[in-house]
Amino acid sequence: MLIVCISDTHNQRIDPPEGDILIHAGDATNEGTSEELKEFFDWFCSLPHKTKIFVAGNHDVLFEKDPETAKSFISDSTIYLQDTSVKINGIKIYGSPWQPVFFDWAFCLPRGKKLAEKWELIPDDVEILVTHCPPYGILDEVYKNGGTSHEGCEELRKRVEVLSRKRLKLHVFGHIHSGYGITKAFGVEFVNACICDEENIAKQKPIVIEI
Ligand SMILES: [Zn+2]
Repeated sequence: MLIVCISDTHNQRIDPPEGDILIHAGDATNEGTSEELKEFFDWFCSLPHKTKIFVAGNHDVLFEKDPETAKSFISDSTIYLQDTSVKINGIKIYGSPWQPVFFDWAFCLPRGKKLAEKWELIPDDVEILVTHCPPYGILDEVYKNGGTSHEGCEELRKRVEVLSRKRLKLHVFGHIHSGYGITKAFGVEFVNACICDEENIAKQKPIVIEI
């Protein structure tokens, strides 16, 4: 199965390559308004990939403020995951929008216990995990003031390490534009699929993974 991974498109339209499943790991918009989300889903839901999965990001505010309206823009061709899972061709995929507090945006929780509770909801038999936020220390580096810092979630990292000893094969996320890329750790493939770079220009390419 070919999994096409994108994230952080921020109102920009791209032409993702062919594949069986198209995953968008959040930040489809800039402000998360009805207008932006409607336009996004008009585009995303019409893409030719047989299965399309969407998880909200901190910019997709309407999904937290008024989820019923936000979800009304999604057609049957796309599966929205919010602390829920779906099985595609026998593969369990789970999606979640949460992240450590990041200015005053959507789906933010303080670091520590509150986030750990969200990650505990991830089922033990998950094979593909989609979160908006990266796990701490994996494709989550931000460059500022001449140094680097890691912005990912420590609690997510702990949960992912546990899940790696079970069935987890692939973890797709975005959020930290400068962390774009692929890496492998403890037997899991990690993809930071941010399409936008640090200047919010859609320069980074979709990442395709074969499972
Ligand atoms: Zn973003």
